[in-house]
Amino acid sequence: MTQLSRRHPRYLSLRVRAGLARAFREGLVVPEGLVAHGRGEAFDYLLGERTTAAAWKAERLAARWLHDAQRPVLSVNGNVASLASNEIARLQRALPRLRVEVNLFHRTEARARAIARRLRRAGVTRVLGLRPGVRIPGLSSDRAWVDAAGIAVADVALVPLEDGDRTAALRRLRKRVISIDLNPLSRSSRDANLPVVDELTRALDHIAREAERLDGRRRLRPARPARPSWLRAEAIREIRARLTRAAARGEVGPPPWPRSTGPRPVRGTARRSRRRR
Ligand code: ATP
Repeated sequence: MTQLSRRHPRYLSLRVRAGLARAFREGLVVPEGLVAHGRGEAFDYLLGERTTAAAWKAERLAARWLHDAQRPVLSVNGNVASLASNEIARLQRALPRLRVEVNLFHRTEARARAIARRLRRAGVTRVLGLRPGVRIPGLSSDRAWVDAAGIAVADVALVPLEDGDRTAALRRLRKRVISIDLNPLSRSSRDANLPVVDELTRALDHIAREAERLDGRRRLRPARPARPSWLRAEAIREIRARLTRAAARGEVGPPPWPRSTGPRPVRGTARRSRRRR
């Protein structure tokens, strides 16, 4: 196996990729999952590989919704289990009612069992979805199969790296859907009641931290309403601002590009500087 140097500027990203490639060889992740990861990485790059202020707001609210829910469920696919089993275990410790359900687009029994094993090894308990007996109406793929004690009866569903059809189908069943997806333009982000536009492990870590803070608190103020369009718009504005700054300064190379310090780009700067070259 290739040795990764910690000094490599993209060390973390390379390490995550190596982990996913291993999970692929072990049968947890499918090739389509590797491609989906690439789409996520691209958006993370554009967002500066850090949690934006708006995403933090969404994560705090997500923790609150999950904390207040009667039957919260987290839906897990191969990528999610490979990338974030430890974070899921931590979230479940903070939210004892949380159930974790394996749900796969490309489903085989062996794959579902391997994913459940990975989750249990990380400390996740009550893993559902191994014998799903209920179908969500309006979906043709295997993702329609859900557990009668899990997503079928959930009031709040946390769906990381979800596909848009299923998000919409869950909404039709009147569930409150929280998505985690780096792409603010995806159908999942657009259809979720609460879109968290952040990288999976960062988002789960923040939600868990916030849930730990809420744990044991008796009197909480009513949760603020979600503003899904604003949350997505903030992510898009962040991407646009970063690209504008990068274009104005002729920057190349990996993020983090300089934070929002420094002069704001003046309109048309990019075009003028190109002409000078
Ligand atoms: P949709 O059907 O919702 O329009 P899609 O077809 O782009 O979405 P899928 O391929 O089903 O999406 O799911 C992958 C989604 O997950 C992508 O939108 C991608 O940006 C996002 N994603 C991939 N890896 C991560 C990650 N580590 N953290 C957060 N989001 C991720």
